[in-house]
Parts: sequence; C-alpha cells; structure tokens
Amino acid sequence: MLTRDINLAIDSLKKNEVVAIPTETVYGLAGNAFSEIAIHKIFTIKKRPLYNPLIVHIKSIEYLEKVAVDIPETAYLLAKYFWPGPLTLVLKKHPEVSDLVSSGKPTVAVRVPNHSLTLSLLDSLEFPLAAPSANPFGSISPTSAEHVFNYFGTTLDVILDGGECERGIESTIIGFENNEPVLYRHGSISIEEIEIKIGKIKIHTKNDSNPDAPGMLSRHYSPSTKTYLTNNVTELIKTFPGKKIGLLMFQNKATVGDTIIQEILSEKGDMTIAAQNLYAALHRLDNCNLDIIIAEIFPDEGLGKTINDRLKRASK
Ligand code: AMP
Ligand code: MG
Repeated sequence: MLTRDINLAIDSLKKNEVVAIPTETVYGLAGNAFSEIAIHKIFTIKKRPLYNPLIVHIKSIEYLEKVAVDIPETAYLLAKYFWPGPLTLVLKKHPEVSDLVSSGKPTVAVRVPNHSLTLSLLDSLEFPLAAPSANPFGSISPTSAEHVFNYFGTTLDVILDGGECERGIESTIIGFENNEPVLYRHGSISIEEIEIKIGKIKIHTKNDSNPDAPGMLSRHYSPSTKTYLTNNVTELIKTFPGKKIGLLMFQNKATVGDTIIQEILSEKGDMTIAAQNLYAALHRLDNCNLDIIIAEIFPDEGLGKTINDRLKRASK
C-alpha cells in the first residue's frame, strides 16, 4: 500500500521484507543491505540478474566506513561536495556488506540519498538499505509512488510515498581505478559539475559483456513501445505512414499533424526540468497504445548527455 508512515517501512524492513522508498533520483526497491534474505528478495521481485549489483544507501558520510574500506581522498571530497545527493561512489567493499549486494565484486556502490522521508527512515534503522530502482529489470524507472504501484501492485506491502522525484533521473556513478576517479554512469549530476570540483575525469568505456558499471547494459530504461531516437523528428515521422506515433520533444512542439501525441519536456529549454519529466513522460506515452515513440536527441552538454544516454538505451 501507499503510505507516508515510515514506521510501517521500519517494521517491514526489520522483518527482512522489501519496501519501495522515494529518493530524489527515482524510487528504490529497498532491503537490509546486511541481510542476504532481504537482498535475495529484491533480485527476485525485480527479476534482476544476480550479476547486476545494487546501490547501498547510507544515512550520512560518517557511516561510509561501515560499508567501504580504503576510501580514496577524492571520494571523501566528492562525498562532502555532493552528499546527500545523486552521486554514487564505487569503493572497496566492507566485509559486512553481503557479496550478493555487490554481485561478488570486491567493490560496493554507495550514496546518501537526498529525500527527507528516506533520510528519516535510514536514521531510524541500524542497517543501510540496498536498493536498485523500483521497476522490473530493464523497464522505465519510476518517479512516483503510483509508477511503483503500477509495476508491483500488492506484491509490496509498503510503498513509501514521497511525492514526485525531484531529479527524476538516476545518480551519477563514479568509481576509482588506481585511486583515479572514473565515470561509470552519467546521471543527475553532470560531468561538468563534477569536473569543476575535482578536475578532468576519465569516462569508462561500455560494453555488454562487461557490465562492470551500473546501468551499463545497452538496453535498459525501456518502454514496451518500440522507441526511436533522432535529431530529425519530422523526417523520421514520414517513414512511418499510418502509424500511431508519440513524440518526446525537448522544448518545442514538432510541426506535424494533430493526430500525433506530443510530450514536451521543458518549454523553457531547461535541462534540469526536462530530466525531471523524462520518465513520467515516457510512462505516459507507453500507456497510450502507440505503434511507436520517437524521441528527439538532446544537446550533448550537461544533463543533455545523461538524457541522451537514457534515450539511447530506451531505443535499443
Ligand atoms: P539501478 O539503481 O537500477 O540503476 O542500479 C544500480 C546500478 O549500480 C546498477 O546498474 C549497478 O550495475 C551499479 N552498481 C552497483 N554496484 C556496483 C559496483 N560495485 N560496481 C559497479 N557498478 C555497480
Ligand atoms: Mg534501474
């Protein structure tokens, strides 16, 4: 059920059950990060392959040493700048964190989420929460409690309703190779914002046989409607005569027939707002019984890089 009562979530989590939690990025499917029983349930409910590790959510930077060891100085710097917030750090794992959480890797992904309800919840618990996004594996991430309910219904006893996610897109993930920071996943903090703080960083190169980093599988975040990505929407439409088409546009409506459904992500051309609206708009289009969705490519800068990354995977 949907509730704002964290006591219900506390009771469930203490019994090794899985609950949905709000964060500023997307909703999470959370369980006790120190309990293999709870972690198993997360993988089962989400139908997530066991090789795809989970992010551990902690209450504050002070808690970091309970889940990670040999923490590089740059990691502390980043944590101080961006926590609580949408930055995940991949660090050497503390032995108390279950190997199931890290999919057998020697590293653990960790962050402090910036949502008051979830911070109060974490504060009331004696364990951190492992949580991937609260959607079935590969589908569109949920940015409202209703999205979570639509996916899982009553399978979840508790869906903590913290309203719409403020950022609406997953966290940025940074790992360390030889103590040097490496970007593993574009996310709601742009690479430019990070580089202002710590200088140039390397970008991890992706490949499906080594889904070393989070969210790196090439097909992910996907609507069930076939989705195309283009920088010339009007031309692409012409190649689908007679089809029921939905458009996902950044700022301006495309000049096309009225029969075409259009979602505009930010009329002011604000990327932060576009990111916030992205998944909700995709959920709406996906529920319109369309033949296809056509999405417009974003400018390749700031959060536009993150949005393009998600759109590319959605259209695989
Ligand atoms: P989700 O919350 O669904 O985006 O999933 C969390 C993401 O974090 C996953 O895609 C993981 O691959 C990534 N992740 C978690 N732990 C690690 C780790 N130890 N190393 C690299 N990536 C990780
Ligand atoms: Mg996910």
